Amino acid sequence: MLDEPVVEPTLVGSRLLAQSRAALHRISTLAGLYLIDGDPRKLARAKAEMRSAAAFTDWNPSHFLDVAEMTAAMALGYDWLYPDLSPDERAQFRAAIISKGLEPGVQAIDTRAFWAAEGRNTWTEVCFGGLSLGALAVAEHAPALAASVITAIGSRRLATHLRRFAPDGGDVEGPGYWGYSTMYLTFLLSALDTALGTDMGLGQIEGLASTGQYRMYSIGSSGRQFNYADAGEWPDAAPQMLWMARRFDRPEYAAHERAWLARSRAAPSILHVLWSARRPAPAVSLPATSARFRGIDVAMLGGDWRDKAGTWVALKGGSNAASLGHLDLGSFVLDALGQRWAVDLGPDFYDLPEYFGPLRWTYFRLRTESHNTLLVNGANQDATATAPIVAFSDDSYRAFAIADLSAAYRPAVAHARRGVALIDGRDVLLQDEIEGAGSADVVWQMATRAQVTISGSGAVLRQNGLSATLRVIEPAGAVLRAEPAVAPAPQIAQPDVAIVRVVPPARGSSLRFVLWFSTGDRSPPAVTPLDAWSGPEVRAPQ
Ligand SMILES: [Zn+2]
Repeated sequence: MLDEPVVEPTLVGSRLLAQSRAALHRISTLAGLYLIDGDPRKLARAKAEMRSAAAFTDWNPSHFLDVAEMTAAMALGYDWLYPDLSPDERAQFRAAIISKGLEPGVQAIDTRAFWAAEGRNTWTEVCFGGLSLGALAVAEHAPALAASVITAIGSRRLATHLRRFAPDGGDVEGPGYWGYSTMYLTFLLSALDTALGTDMGLGQIEGLASTGQYRMYSIGSSGRQFNYADAGEWPDAAPQMLWMARRFDRPEYAAHERAWLARSRAAPSILHVLWSARRPAPAVSLPATSARFRGIDVAMLGGDWRDKAGTWVALKGGSNAASLGHLDLGSFVLDALGQRWAVDLGPDFYDLPEYFGPLRWTYFRLRTESHNTLLVNGANQDATATAPIVAFSDDSYRAFAIADLSAAYRPAVAHARRGVALIDGRDVLLQDEIEGAGSADVVWQMATRAQVTISGSGAVLRQNGLSATLRVIEPAGAVLRAEPAVAPAPQIAQPDVAIVRVVPPARGSSLRFVLWFSTGDRSPPAVTPLDAWSGPEVRAPQ
């Protein structure tokens, strides 16, 4: 960082965000390390970054995340380095925070920018989080502006918004945006608490204390996460887990983040240092190895984060209309032997035309045809459909979740349900029951990076010297194919991914798919209807 050039007012597309993030990372790291070791080069380099950012004409208020992140960067530098700044530097940095951060922020709040008025996504936490740091840093010098920001944060609107994590901490925007959102939420709660002695009750909102659990269950045994809703496969660091561990008395969060750092070989950030407890937390386990998040209708089976070879499968219900959603109801991802076998391709480029607008459902990675769910008549699912998880068990022999996918496929199909069961912690049973399919073409599919060899009613999947099998138990006579996951340029190509498709031998009003994923030679259990999954006959053999 000492040798890197300072940030410049350069936009990528319509965004300054890369510059804001670079400034935040460098200023917080250099200022934090300077407070530890007193190295004057770090102080000088942090100040140089701040001088450059302060001299920008603006921080790009047309894309307000950029302002929020730059305000956070400047506020942390101003606050942490205050005793070592000259009066001129204090005045210069303060003026930038006020005129380029807080003033456009209050204007956006007053004119009811979407993130301030009815935000339903990460923007609200990031924008208020960044502004809160700026407001608290300069409150003595700009009391009216600071009060406007803090009053908006204390309003019922933000509290209402934060109930999106209720009741159990799940995030409809997926684990990638969860990291972004809870990072800024932690900035907000932590800064309110240390500066004002109160977080105005926000920390008590239902779901926030348990949201660290969502991260723990979202990462599979391959180290990759359940990357629905525009998330990448690999998790980012989450130092906020350390803060939440202390704030909410959840030592397992800290244990999880330490284990994640060790496994991913990621460098700890200055925030890990800042929020770490003096004593490492004991390795506390979770109450169950499987979880269902009711607020978002997502279930993860086999989530013992300490077992790096265990089988883990995650099922997506919820709403296709959710923020950053794909048309992926019923889709699943699957880890076993430390590998990811069933993949979600993740997001495409955000600068594709109308990626967040009317062309969204034309892009392959967002369409149903690229997801690990049923494809009916080759078409997308209903973009407004919801799929509740209607049954769930965290039984240690047979954990399962069942989602009702009917709304996603109407009117072509009257009823469709998908059950996913993890048997004895190792093998996975995938069962779909479809009624009222008329003459619809219904195809079962799963995307994988494994090399696929099809023989008869099964396929052998191989990757990194390991193998697994996928067997079609029903319908008899189904045809398996492995097809390329084609997307035309400029969409992202994925030449390493094949989509395994299972085509039934005939159309029919009622149809049942039963597939068995195994990493060994164990036999599948007897097939029972989904309605019987909760009954005693599917429990562990005595
Ligand atoms: Zn997806």
